Amino acid sequence: MLNQDLFIEANTFIPGGVNSPVRSFKGVGGVPFFTKSAKGCYLFDVENNKYIDYVCGWGSSIVGHAHDEIVKNVAEAIQRGFSYGTPTHLETTLAKSICELVPSIEKVRLVSSGTEGVMSAIRLSRAYTKRDYIVKFNGCYHGHTDSMLVSAGSGAMYTSLSGSDGVLPDVVSHTLVIEYNDITQLQKVFELYGHKIAAVIFEPFAANMNLVFPTKDFITQLQQITKEYGALLICDEVITGFRVGLHGAQHILNIKPDITILGKIIGGGLPLAAFGGKSHIMALLAPLGNVYQAGTLSGNPIAVTAGISTLDIIKRQGFYDNLSRITTTLAVELMRVANIHSIPLTINHIGGLFGLHFQDQLPQNLLEVKKQDSGLF
Ligand code: PLP
Repeated sequence: MLNQDLFIEANTFIPGGVNSPVRSFKGVGGVPFFTKSAKGCYLFDVENNKYIDYVCGWGSSIVGHAHDEIVKNVAEAIQRGFSYGTPTHLETTLAKSICELVPSIEKVRLVSSGTEGVMSAIRLSRAYTKRDYIVKFNGCYHGHTDSMLVSAGSGAMYTSLSGSDGVLPDVVSHTLVIEYNDITQLQKVFELYGHKIAAVIFEPFAANMNLVFPTKDFITQLQQITKEYGALLICDEVITGFRVGLHGAQHILNIKPDITILGKIIGGGLPLAAFGGKSHIMALLAPLGNVYQAGTLSGNPIAVTAGISTLDIIKRQGFYDNLSRITTTLAVELMRVANIHSIPLTINHIGGLFGLHFQDQLPQNLLEVKKQDSGLF
């Protein structure tokens, strides 16, 4: 079987041949390879090519593919049935583990994707504050719920444009988009809309526009201004949670968000995500309160088993030291090679995250990221 042939066949039945657009290789050209199996840090395609996997299931397979311990636990769980539609003690075990590891999360609800977690967190923040507007940052991605598919409009009023056909301008009109790390814009948007803003949602290390780190002032200001105006701070740790450290980016940056969204790693490669935060906010969720949120597969026992097993592994002594050491080695060596060839390169990295910028200075926001030599990238 050839990748090329499988891609042609896939295109016959699946739009663009893929079930998530980034897999199509459209951004980099060529035909996507079709994976046959994965083990540890390797992927094997249908043509028997072996790849070192720097992507790791877009972050979910942090302990490597098909880790023996997780395989064993999931295989045992499968024997007991796939989905019950009743609560299980496994869900409490995972929830307890999450709350212990990320103390700003006092209560947590399990969902099946990061998108679902974001959608629910936004609904919850609007219900809690009884306000309409959400502030997000240009270049941060929060899944494909309608209100987050926006791009920045022009002008001083921070109007937003629909970021996808099919997303109504009305829906995004309550999402205000400003530049990451831009304190002046943050203050301005609060001056203009302050008491109508339900929440600010952000990626603590912005990993969807290459990798951009927040400045210390930006983090301080985010916390101060949301507090001052009574808006909630929603920390989207779908990528950074358990990727940069055992207690999330919020621990490293000393942030205490009102709501946090987790994904990817907490499912260990199976469909699982979560949103959680302060008890009195989470208490608004049905069945306790009037904010509706539900899911047939939420807390699925197989996914939860993979999640618990993954957390068990990453809690072990030395896990993050080792992960950081590997990432640092990679970054240092890439810099060395770039220097030899006089290629402008800067690299941001933390824990298991790294971003290559083919420019002399580390960018602070999407506009600066876009200045790099995209051909080289
Ligand atoms: N939030 C962030 C920061 C993400 O990077 C993603 C996806 O990559 C999401 C939310 C959406 O998660 P999912 O793809 O599981 O819906």
